[in-house]
Amino acid sequence: MYIKPGSMLGLLGGGQLGRMFAMAAQQMGYRVTVLDPAAESPAGSIAERHLQADYLNDQALDELGSTCAAVTIEFENVPAQALRYLARRCVVSPDAESVSIAQNRIREKQFLAENGFPVGPFTVVHDGQDLPRIDVSLFPGILKSSQSGYDGKGQMRIEHADILSEALTALGNKPCVLEKRLSLAHEISVVLARDNLDQITFFPVPENHHERGILDTSIIPATLSDEIVGKARAVARQVATRLNYVGILCVEFFVLGDGQILVNEIAPRPHNSGHYSLNACVTSQFEQQVRMLCGLPHGSTKLVQEAAVMTNILGDLWKNGEPDWNSILQHPQTKLHLYGKRAAKPGRKMGHFTVLADTVEEALQQTARIRQDLQ
Ligand code: ADP
Ligand code: MG
Repeated sequence: MYIKPGSMLGLLGGGQLGRMFAMAAQQMGYRVTVLDPAAESPAGSIAERHLQADYLNDQALDELGSTCAAVTIEFENVPAQALRYLARRCVVSPDAESVSIAQNRIREKQFLAENGFPVGPFTVVHDGQDLPRIDVSLFPGILKSSQSGYDGKGQMRIEHADILSEALTALGNKPCVLEKRLSLAHEISVVLARDNLDQITFFPVPENHHERGILDTSIIPATLSDEIVGKARAVARQVATRLNYVGILCVEFFVLGDGQILVNEIAPRPHNSGHYSLNACVTSQFEQQVRMLCGLPHGSTKLVQEAAVMTNILGDLWKNGEPDWNSILQHPQTKLHLYGKRAAKPGRKMGHFTVLADTVEEALQQTARIRQDLQ
């Protein structure tokens, strides 16, 4: 039994990940209802229906539950309670439990540590009273707000213990995680799909470069040893199985100079570092999300070309007005994606482009040329 095309699928959240989910769902003949409090959103503007209401609005949740065959999320900051409520009415994946772990850095770190997954040195800071007992070996560190941070937001770099109190206040005196700042040799991410029979498929593993805490580029395939990539996949598989996870899961990893891998964080949804799959894989992470939600078979995640480089387009690019998209589109092996956001703000993800090539070197060179033209 699977959920048939033509059915209505519900989506909590209206951002670009939701927009790409909706496009994949619509391509397969499904219809989509988006629940998002904003009047205008990347997913809300293309879905068949947009319920403009809060995520805990009973009426909106009842409407979703009674009209949708299945519901998923496009960002982790939806109240897990909403998913629990919906699960009484229709198929919901991922489940409330997985989302509640992934949406809170304290629960996430504790889940990972308690289950023996490799994580870097950290401590939980509930409030100012915890400050005197913090181990000095965690400095220089990064203080991360436990809830609703993304793209490096809700984080502060801490050089010494004496500025911790100030930083905690700057982050709103909310519970935080303090992590030791590590010297990273590489960052990679494992995006996988898991169904309710524990069958798992992996997407090719990208190497990710961040600028100011925001993903800048993903390079596919990662030019790391098979051993490191294999270890990361094995850990990601165990995380998904431990959560009894159904859907698309991303596990972000830090790779240290000695080859050690540490889990940075997990995302219970498609991930920015998996956007390359829209053009570089037989099945994208969004189509796979639709397949998992609807109880359909996994699609092949094979690369259709040897190499790809995905680059995010941030609002900063609009500093002198609308960029000239010909800089990207004149290259026939390069694909442009824009998310339909009206206002370009610095640091805001407006779109991305993916260069396809026969080798990683070629894809990187082409990317560098495009970036120069876009300046
Ligand atoms: P977000 O939810 O914003 O993605 P992350 O915790 O993944 O937050 O941090 C964003 C980026 O900041 C990471 O991908 C990495 O480049 C850098 N970073 C985060 N934590 C650490 C750390 N403990 N040591 C070194 N770099 C870090
Ligand atoms: Mg991250």
